[in-house]
Amino acid sequence: MARQLPMLINGEFVASQTDQWIPVTNPATQEVLCEAPAATAGEMEQAIASAKAAFADWKEVPVSERARLMLRYQALLKEHQEEIAEILSQETGKTFEDAKGDVWRGIEVAEQAANIASLMMGETVENVARSIDTHSWTQPLGVCAGITPFNFPAMIPLWMFPLAIACGNTFILKPSERDPLTPTRLVELFEEAGAPKGVLQVIHGGAHQVDYLLEHPDICAGSFVGSVPVGKHIYRKGTENLKRMQCMTGANNHMVVMPDANKSQVINNIIGSAFGAAGQRCMAIPNVILVGEAAQWAPDIAEAAKAIRPGVWSDKGAAYGPQTNSAAKEKIIGLIAGAKEEGATCLLDGSDCVVEGYPDGNWIGPTIFTDVTRDMSIYKEEVFGPVLCLLTMDTLDDAIAAINEDFRGNGTSIFTASGGAARKYQHEILVGQVGINVPIPVPLPFFSFTGWRGSFHGDLHAYGKQAVRFYTETKTITARWFEDDVATGPNMSINLK
Ligand code: NAD
Repeated sequence: MARQLPMLINGEFVASQTDQWIPVTNPATQEVLCEAPAATAGEMEQAIASAKAAFADWKEVPVSERARLMLRYQALLKEHQEEIAEILSQETGKTFEDAKGDVWRGIEVAEQAANIASLMMGETVENVARSIDTHSWTQPLGVCAGITPFNFPAMIPLWMFPLAIACGNTFILKPSERDPLTPTRLVELFEEAGAPKGVLQVIHGGAHQVDYLLEHPDICAGSFVGSVPVGKHIYRKGTENLKRMQCMTGANNHMVVMPDANKSQVINNIIGSAFGAAGQRCMAIPNVILVGEAAQWAPDIAEAAKAIRPGVWSDKGAAYGPQTNSAAKEKIIGLIAGAKEEGATCLLDGSDCVVEGYPDGNWIGPTIFTDVTRDMSIYKEEVFGPVLCLLTMDTLDDAIAAINEDFRGNGTSIFTASGGAARKYQHEILVGQVGINVPIPVPLPFFSFTGWRGSFHGDLHAYGKQAVRFYTETKTITARWFEDDVATGPNMSINLK
């Protein structure tokens, strides 16, 4: 029988009493790696009650002690990063290099959380009226919840719980049921770093468990990262239950290539951003708009794509791994077939991809279409696979208008040698994360992850700077100072009137 994954409840890794177990498979072999429990209502109640009880103590722990927990955690993550990356590679199929990147981007957030005192600093204005000053504090909210997707099982849980907990909250993590082994290892290390009992809880499951959290009166706030339809549902459900919500959702990103750009640089960057991680990145570039003369570069792009291939995580020659599951593979194959029927020209077809020795893997080879129009399903849907659509347009204005019409706005990039074109693009484009001659402009955590429009629902963005605002509440205090108190110097008390 496959290993049954425990949950973290009240500081203990406990076996679930559920009778519903979700198999977790290696997408390159279909080997069952473990089974994740669908948490019972009783187990979720225990996790929430324990997080609520732990909050009473944790919020009083000095900020420097909370920061020190994050320093110890960051050191442990660094020490174990290769081991975590190996677990991650096996359950996601990502190449080892890619898996190490996933872990590293998460470690950077733990690093940022160690800086929590400066991130939580309030503001002060003296003499708002005679002898009256106003200052503000940021205080934690209570029990927060995080719901994460399959495609970054290290980075995205780490976007959430270290910052939320460093702010003084307690946290319930519901990782993706497709790859829960990586978050389990992250959480074991968090406990090893000395996290007090109950500060972090982990429950497993799917839609039912998520809805349970969002309806529970003791959950104050929810962070979600995942697909557009699920994100919309979660945002509506959470806000209907009067919770603070931030939902980072799906994408349909574009790169604009101007004819004055450096051609070989452009082609290298297209290959990495369209096919890397098997296209399973919310910042992947599935659409490239070739402007003017750049339209002639399509055959060279296809030639470069022929030189890469998928493979298993330990294969150093593989550019990327399998799709997450067979349903994802079938969906992509259907979209490729549909694009042919709708009149797109297939320059490279990866539908029948075979990887020697791994006949059961969810493989799709690099696939490229030209003559793509914006009414085709291959363009409108988030394919989330190694499929590149090449569109051609006459002017930069046309490209900007087309991109601004898409309801999603996660990431985009322009490749050009012209400062004027780059300036126009960064100013006019309605997308939250913009790269100028940079293909996947993911900001480091001292900024925030800033998807726009249909790629985000909420008020404050995830990870980094704005996430600290999301996980805290501001309290403004206005105080009148009496002459006697002022005279007593540093021990003076604040008298509120
Ligand atoms: P998903 O929406 O299927 O699942 C995400 C989480 O939601 C999982 O934990 C899952 O258990 C839960 N869930 C699924 N259905 C649910 C339902 N009906 N009700 C409540 N909860 C439910 O997403 P996925 O396939 O795991 O991840 C891929 C998607 O995530 C892509 O669309 C990608 O663009 C997006 N993504 C976005 C970002 C971003 O920052 N914008 C980052 C990474 C991934």
